[in-house]
Amino acid sequence: MTPERRPMLAANWKMHKSVPESLAFVRAWSRRVADGAALPPRDRVELVLCPTLPALWPVAGPLDAMGVGVGAQNIDLGAEGAVTGGVSGPLLAEALATHVIVGHSERRRLFGETDAVVGAKAAAVLSAGLTPIVCVGESSDERRAGQTREVVARQLTAVLDAVAGGGERVVVAYEPLWAIGTGQGAAPADASEVAGWCRGLAAAAWGSAASGLRILYGGSVTRDNILGFWHADEIDGALVGGASLEMESWLAMVHAVAPAPSA
Ligand code: PEP
Repeated sequence: MTPERRPMLAANWKMHKSVPESLAFVRAWSRRVADGAALPPRDRVELVLCPTLPALWPVAGPLDAMGVGVGAQNIDLGAEGAVTGGVSGPLLAEALATHVIVGHSERRRLFGETDAVVGAKAAAVLSAGLTPIVCVGESSDERRAGQTREVVARQLTAVLDAVAGGGERVVVAYEPLWAIGTGQGAAPADASEVAGWCRGLAAAAWGSAASGLRILYGGSVTRDNILGFWHADEIDGALVGGASLEMESWLAMVHAVAPAPSA
């Protein structure tokens, strides 16, 4: 992590929590903050919570009041039209989204999203004035075959080309598939090395704009291991799935990454 890039802690709730449960979580978090729970200042740490789509608009107001962003977990291409089930960037912006996760491995696997589609979606997020959090990462087979760099380069290049010079408006999450939901996170040093290498690719594509690109790590991050990633040289924060669903676990991570008041 470097001081010039604002670190991000983002929660990916996937298809968990009903609308009332999501609202109850956010209201309870807000009460805990009012009672003294740590909440880093917005300009020091960017917090983002990505609930299910129906919960996005209801939780956006209470989250904004705490200085926390709200993210969608997908976007569809185009602005409006005959796209049954589609939700466009302008619609997400109108629903008060601030961020959008793009290219999560579950969407690549379950919905057949290709690198080109993920790149186009990242560009659509930016066009809507929102911040894309673009996921890249290799499978366990690819890792065993020594193809991590090759796979991540292919995925990342499609995005770097689609959002040329995006700089600090773009966030990448390195999420090795074998680490997602398995309890077997990457070693921070290994994740940092991949992140650094990604930044090198971005520098080759974008020049100096790459210095603003934030690269998160995701995959079995918990309250117990988050600081290892948080303090790794090339990693600018974390995207957290399972461990973000439970209040005490989430509060512990927020507390862990909050800078000391005098720092
Ligand atoms: C994810 O799916 O984005 C993720 C990081 O999940 P988990 O933290 O549960 O491994």
